[in-house]
Amino acid sequence: MTLEFWEDAERFRFTELTSNPLFQRVHKAVMNSTYYKEFQNAKDYRTFDGVGNFTFVGIFSGSYLKGGDEVEVIPADAFLGLDGEGFKDPSRTRHTPVGVEAQSSTPPPSGGRPQHSGKVKYHPQVAEVLAAVSTAPIQTKASDPSSTTPTAVDTEGRDLILVASLLDNNFNLGGVSRVSEIMGVGTLTFNSLSSTKTSEFTSVSVHSESWLELVEVPSPEIAAYLREKRAAGYTAVGLEQTDRSVILGKDACRFPKKTVLLLGTEKYGIPAELLGELDWCVEIPQKGRTRSMNVQTAAAVVLYEACRQEWADA
Ligand code: SAH
Repeated sequence: MTLEFWEDAERFRFTELTSNPLFQRVHKAVMNSTYYKEFQNAKDYRTFDGVGNFTFVGIFSGSYLKGGDEVEVIPADAFLGLDGEGFKDPSRTRHTPVGVEAQSSTPPPSGGRPQHSGKVKYHPQVAEVLAAVSTAPIQTKASDPSSTTPTAVDTEGRDLILVASLLDNNFNLGGVSRVSEIMGVGTLTFNSLSSTKTSEFTSVSVHSESWLELVEVPSPEIAAYLREKRAAGYTAVGLEQTDRSVILGKDACRFPKKTVLLLGTEKYGIPAELLGELDWCVEIPQKGRTRSMNVQTAAAVVLYEACRQEWADA
């Protein structure tokens, strides 16, 4: 989106943005990225108009959000009450209009757009933070995995633990359980075992969980769990797209015999503080434009590769 923001900022002459050092640096980083071409292609997907769609309904349930299970959409009717009598009091100014549910994803014609001055007034504390970060190197999603190179190569008699404690969608948990059982995962962890009682879970898992060792590891305890496993000789691997991930399918990508594999949340992936608990991350190379796979699809791909390595070595 940086490319689009930058284009708009220039088009509307939002000079406070285009002269903001942080904004400039982010834009430069995107321009210099090896993914630049893909970012450019992704511009076709523009569906959010930063001025015309900047209403409660536009922000929280706009069509730009309707992209699967990874985003939380607050339905338009949740905001209807805001138009009620209580809000007609002129002394209670509301800065953001409620808006209407967008019928199409096309932004309104530019003639009809309210012009925005482009002035951004930061809270003093925010301004302080911005001043500090504008000189720091830009943090890419990643990566303090303590080492980026996988080491052990012996995969015989594999012992694979899959940590699915960050997932909260019961359909996804059901799918992960099923593919884990099929691909020979030994232990599977969930944030709460109560998920297995839901109809969403059972409809997909088809009792696969009965053949797995299911362990409850609440998400706040994942870091401790990973440390405990690493102390017991496991290599902790994250399934995540980061700028330092090892690419699945490359020679370097070998899953050691004792591997504990962490899946990310549906919405945000693996949180930064947990990336620091991992030995390395694995990324599934993608050909298309869509940013990421659904987590259970990604789990299936990586578990198959772990099996393939085991079979190849047998
Ligand atoms: N929307 C979030 C993450 C969603 S994907 C984001 O883009 O940051 C959810 C999880 O699926 C990820 O945390 C990761 O575990 C897995 N995943 C999806 N696509 C992947 C890929 N190409 N390589 C590695 N992991 C992937």
